[in-house]
Amino acid sequence: MADTIKFLLNESDMPKFWYNIAADLPEPPPPVLHPGTGQPITPDDLAPLFPMAVIQQEVSQEREIEIPQPVRDVLQQWRPSPLHRARRLEQALDTPARIYYKYEGVSPAGSHKPNTAIAQAFYNKEQGVKRITTETGAGQWGSALALAGSFFGLEIEVYMVRVSYDQKPYRRAFMETFGATCIASPSNRTESGRAILEKDPDSTGSLGIAISEAVEMAAQREDTKYSLGSVLNHVLLHQTIIGQEALRQFEMADDYPDMVIGCTGGGSNFAGIAFPFIGRKLRGEQDVDVVAVEPANCPTLTKGAYAYDFGDTAHLTPLVKMHTLGSTFVPPGFHAGGLRYHGMAPLVSQLSDMGVIKPRAYAQAACFEAGVTFAKAEGIIPAPEANHAVRAAIDEALVCKESGQGKAILFNLCGHGHFDMQAYTDYFAGKLFDQDYDPSEVAMALAGLPSVASG
Ligand SMILES: *Cc1c(COP(=O)(O)O)cnc(C)c1O
Repeated sequence: MADTIKFLLNESDMPKFWYNIAADLPEPPPPVLHPGTGQPITPDDLAPLFPMAVIQQEVSQEREIEIPQPVRDVLQQWRPSPLHRARRLEQALDTPARIYYKYEGVSPAGSHKPNTAIAQAFYNKEQGVKRITTETGAGQWGSALALAGSFFGLEIEVYMVRVSYDQKPYRRAFMETFGATCIASPSNRTESGRAILEKDPDSTGSLGIAISEAVEMAAQREDTKYSLGSVLNHVLLHQTIIGQEALRQFEMADDYPDMVIGCTGGGSNFAGIAFPFIGRKLRGEQDVDVVAVEPANCPTLTKGAYAYDFGDTAHLTPLVKMHTLGSTFVPPGFHAGGLRYHGMAPLVSQLSDMGVIKPRAYAQAACFEAGVTFAKAEGIIPAPEANHAVRAAIDEALVCKESGQGKAILFNLCGHGHFDMQAYTDYFAGKLFDQDYDPSEVAMALAGLPSVASG
């Protein structure tokens, strides 16, 4: 058998619909609540922040939602993305497992994020919006939206979490190349940012804080909307193109995964690869194990509460029921910046609460070790976030080696690590310490959870 096997679809085989898992859930998702009244929010409540087409997708129960042609036209530049069988990794591990990975690093921004950035930019443009504000953690989301803004002629303003802004100057240059503005968060531009800086001038920032800043700016101007790169239903919906392609590619491979693995920050790349497979499981068509991997020092699914909470630190967003470490919790700075979020996508949280998804947490040094093993075998350097999924896939393959039982393992290689080489440099220098999160800080943040009658 050849060293590597790549399953490629033609452009014409790119899915024409997104898959909406809400249609297959045994119970409807808990409602999103208005932060002031505690009542379910209406589309009108969200209208200052999002275009109406996006709001409709957020609450849709339709199983299939058509991907607009202008969105398909842009996605076709790099989609369908390849599915690889990791033959050399299997040989290096001496495992009977069949390891597959879907590679999203082929997008111009180097991650899965443009799948939704392109769609969101399109819907904003269609509604006459001029400017979009957003937050970014590691910089991948800011890069993706900057790219999308450039394609659709929109101004993009990005609040970038301070610790990543300092660690990753090339991400900022990337965004600026596409004409976007990139601001370190917390910043002096917003009330939310100034409030944080007053208490802690050296704040490393967090996604929760950056979201507050971006939402605050969007709410102030008629021509400006806000865009989120993960967590919300419509974002997860846009990412399902990944798993739908994978389903077709497994047909080409004449195989089917026993296990699907994704790393989880806000849950979007995980949902993207896993939801189409979970849908088949929920409909009783084909069983599959699904594993969500998160960082041990921001352990939302494994250690968080499943409760109503705010999406941001300054409490400007609606309340959603999700796994959360508390909206005021600031995770310690570590290299998988895209995974430093206190909450989790409500849909992923619900599936985890139902036991459909099995979450697990890994420390970062173990993830980098797996990433290096993968890179040596397959020639692709994974993003630090993706290393969490790589770690789980390798661990599962090693379990197969122990038991002598082969199974098919699919993971999402959600991005490459070419902008993250400082993290690899630190790892090789032995400087990548696992700085534990402070459980008392989480306890404090959870004690501050908003009280909601319906729980
Ligand atoms: C943003 C990002 C993540 C985390 O976000 P999710 O919504 O959980 O996917 C993970 N990996 C990469 C490469 C990212 O860019």
